Amino acid sequence: ENYHTVLAENRKLFNEVQELKGNIRVYCRIRPFLSGQSRKLTTIDYIGENGELLVVNPSKHGKDAHRMFKFNKVFSPTATQEEVFLDTQPLIRSVLDGYNVCIFAYGQTGSGKTYTMSGPSTSSKADWGVNYRALNDLFHLSRNRKSTYMYEVGVQMVEIYNEQVRDLLASDGSQRKLGIWSISQPNGLAVPDASMLPVKSTQDVLELMQIGQANRAVGATALNERSSRSHSVLTVHVRGVDLKTEATLRGSLHLVDLAGSERVDRSEATGDRLKEAQHINKSLSALGDVISALAQKSNHVPYRNSKLTQVLQSSLGGQAKTLMFVQINPDVESFSETISTLKFAERVSGVELGAARSSK
Ligand code: ADP
Repeated sequence: ENYHTVLAENRKLFNEVQELKGNIRVYCRIRPFLSGQSRKLTTIDYIGENGELLVVNPSKHGKDAHRMFKFNKVFSPTATQEEVFLDTQPLIRSVLDGYNVCIFAYGQTGSGKTYTMSGPSTSSKADWGVNYRALNDLFHLSRNRKSTYMYEVGVQMVEIYNEQVRDLLASDGSQRKLGIWSISQPNGLAVPDASMLPVKSTQDVLELMQIGQANRAVGATALNERSSRSHSVLTVHVRGVDLKTEATLRGSLHLVDLAGSERVDRSEATGDRLKEAQHINKSLSALGDVISALAQKSNHVPYRNSKLTQVLQSSLGGQAKTLMFVQINPDVESFSETISTLKFAERVSGVELGAARSSK
């Protein structure tokens, strides 16, 4: 209850982990209650200014009820799309300087992954998610630099479903299955034959994303269901030529809306549903293992354990920059999913505080 005491007791740990490791950033975003949910209990007890998050299980008492986490940043339910983007912008801009950047949204279905990455479907400009803002910013900045650099931009969009990679931008809408490189490429996706389409404006990209989304729905009973069980990867490739020296640089931005992280009750799921759940578990934990190995600067990074990590291999690690949005539904009924999401995030960031000690 007394979060000041809990904070004070954890301060030493916080200082030790003040700077999260390497090029890996973890932002936590708490979704607001939706209208009609206003009388629900929240699991969020306290949000600190320096990325501290104290969660509480309202149905428990004593020291087990609270748990403290620490991230680079925590966005409260009132944070706007613009505020979220402003903290993402420097990372995105580095793409034009030749960096590889990966941005992921992780969390249970309904926690706001799509809201953060794309925005709600009725998008007015203020509601735009990271995707649109990022592209807008990249085009804007490349125009500003046009006296020094000439940039070309190309887009790929793939979906990973049941450990199969599919092209969402195939011209015939066929969603053809793709192979992947056995050796990682220095830039971009390790998918040699995914359609790459040139784009000149944010509008071009928006149109392609709509095509991609429509292709995603093919064969799915309900788009929502399908999209919550597959990973979608939008890749923006940038090639820049320095007009003075003629030196070429290449950067890439991967925007990844991950499959829902909720655990499926083994006793209830059967057949296709169970298979999907196993593939999702496998790929999300492989992603966690890869990022955590990178955060620990481990010599062995286990990229080979899932299609997702193979496809993104060259953009995870080395000079690449990674940002993970960890999405939280504050509803008390989601408490156990929230804890498992936050533990995943903790592992990914290489920062594990353990149970927060409460004062009594
Ligand atoms: P996910 O992609 O994780 O399944 P969604 O992005 O679809 O979740 O979000 C679930 C619902 O919550 C949607 O109706 C969405 O518009 C709403 N929502 C999520 N985050 C926010 C937010 N920050 N502000 C307002 N509404 C939100």
